[in-house]
Amino acid sequence: MTKRPYNLYAGPAILPQEVMAQAREELMDIAGTGLSILESSHRGAAYDEINSSAQQNLRDLLNIPDSYSVLFLQGGASLQFGMIPMNFLRGGTADYVYTGAWSKKAIKEAKLFGTVNIAGSSEDKNFSYIPSIDSLNLTPDARYLHICTNETIGGVRWPVFPDSGDVPLIGDMSSEICSRKIDVSKFAMIYAGAQKNLGPAGVTIVIMSDEMLSRCPDDLTTLLNYRTQAEKDSNYNTPPVFSIYIVGLVLKWLKKLGGVEAIEKINNEKADLLYRMIDSTDFYRGTAALQDRSIMNITFRIPKEELEVLFIKEGTAAGFIGLKGHRSVGGIRASIYNAFPLEGVQALVEFMQNFEKENS
Ligand SMILES: *Cc1c(COP(=O)(O)O)cnc(C)c1O
Repeated sequence: MTKRPYNLYAGPAILPQEVMAQAREELMDIAGTGLSILESSHRGAAYDEINSSAQQNLRDLLNIPDSYSVLFLQGGASLQFGMIPMNFLRGGTADYVYTGAWSKKAIKEAKLFGTVNIAGSSEDKNFSYIPSIDSLNLTPDARYLHICTNETIGGVRWPVFPDSGDVPLIGDMSSEICSRKIDVSKFAMIYAGAQKNLGPAGVTIVIMSDEMLSRCPDDLTTLLNYRTQAEKDSNYNTPPVFSIYIVGLVLKWLKKLGGVEAIEKINNEKADLLYRMIDSTDFYRGTAALQDRSIMNITFRIPKEELEVLFIKEGTAAGFIGLKGHRSVGGIRASIYNAFPLEGVQALVEFMQNFEKENS
């Protein structure tokens, strides 16, 4: 088999090799049925078990209270940008914190359904930090407060989450779900496209409190109402069976590893290694404010753009793929999600040291 490159793409992203090996192993026969998961009925017993155990494992990993539903939806995190205001804004006012490209997209959709109050913004410094919680200009009776907990493109994350009081807090956790311990009960809703930290593309995880679910209106088209899939255990229509199956395997892998607490420790270690490399020299410059740095998406620059091009080219040749920063911001980005191995970060640091020696 060809040597696997180190996959630093932002998403779809690296998956645990054990998971893919198991999927290959089981591809022709799932749970002794003689059928592939790819051809299995979503009403059959094998899928039933996959669906319910994936939900339960996510509950266990994130300590999700019983008063919350776990939903597997389609349309990506991007559809959530629209579904959230469609269900919950409805002519009212919602607070959004504008921290980068993904919150911008969420804001754009919300404006179609009501008034958006930008409660805070980091646009003044090119989204390189998270506005302080004290500085937020919150609407007392907002329908909800929306934050993007980890901005995948800018490489910033909320170090702590705002306390929104009685106003429901909604978090886009697409690029960091299950990477650090969180208190789910602080949120009315959490959502995440699976393809960064939980599995392949095709399924979006939604975690929603019963209270929030009860606010869904009756006059929406069926699949855009959260209650539809909540009432049918995410099996109202044909779900993306294979994607959910892989998410289930990833969750089992994470559990076996010791859960979110264990992976958070590893993630911190990986990010520290890279940030220490970046901070140790003037050659590399981190783009995110120190206190708000993401441990998933590490963004940095090299003083000359030609050198960035060379870095990416030589990096690719050396087996590090996906290092190019998002086209909207340029620079370098290393996405080191849960499944990215520590030795990959160590190898990248060594590559960076050598590159600096040769080019500074
Ligand atoms: C990737 C990403 C999205 C968009 O996800 P899709 O599933 O492609 O719609 C939204 N928010 C964040 C934070 C992301 O990283």
